[in-house]
Amino acid sequence: MTLSTLDETVSNYRIIRSARRTLSLEVSADLEVLVRSPRWIAEREIRAFVEDKAGWIEKTRSRILKRQERPLELTQTQAGGLFFQGQLYPFWIDPSLTERFSFQEGFRIHPFWAGEPEKPVESWFRREAARILADRMNFFVSGGVSACKKIRIGRAQTRWGSCSPRGGIIFNWRLLMCPPAVIDYGVIHELCHLQEMNHSRNFWKNVKVLCPNYKSACKWLREHGDLLLRPIPKPILISGNHGLNALPLSVNPVP
Ligand SMILES: [Zn+2]
Repeated sequence: MTLSTLDETVSNYRIIRSARRTLSLEVSADLEVLVRSPRWIAEREIRAFVEDKAGWIEKTRSRILKRQERPLELTQTQAGGLFFQGQLYPFWIDPSLTERFSFQEGFRIHPFWAGEPEKPVESWFRREAARILADRMNFFVSGGVSACKKIRIGRAQTRWGSCSPRGGIIFNWRLLMCPPAVIDYGVIHELCHLQEMNHSRNFWKNVKVLCPNYKSACKWLREHGDLLLRPIPKPILISGNHGLNALPLSVNPVP
């Protein structure tokens, strides 16, 4: 460590004297260095003690800074963010929650489930997916497209949806993390498979009728799909007035 950094690190500290027996060091949340000292220790000795711990002070300060910066760089790959209909919402541990998992301004999870959020997150998304995807499907079916016999919500890790020759459609619940236009494309794609069980020219022609901008939806899935298929991130603990709102996907589309 260079002398100037060392100087800077150790020249700004506050001494708190009390009837204690040993020296101790701490860095506060606002990065101030505090030395707790017995009344009888000379300032010179305290300075030597702080100089000796300069490396620890630097490390602790940067760890605190990093922790404070985290909410600004939320992505689903890090702790604290979940996508829903194309928006990134904060994902909090909320000790005041009475249910396992809930959606109020952001996603909230009970502390009991915070270590293993997969179950409550998946069951909430499955329920919402069943409702929203059936809704969208009915919308297109009422527009004249043939209906599927049965819709199921699955957990395929790599596919967004699939269609069986017998007319059943399975959607990945993570499709609900995509923006509405991409969700619609997913629904239309599978509905069109009821007519054409392949990706022929005819198939894409049918897709285009219902979803004129399907190419941009495909592109979106290619670019961001992997991100949404990753494991559920860990939630973060709510502390005080967080002031975090839903962050639109366009702010932070990729890690
Ligand atoms: Zn297909």
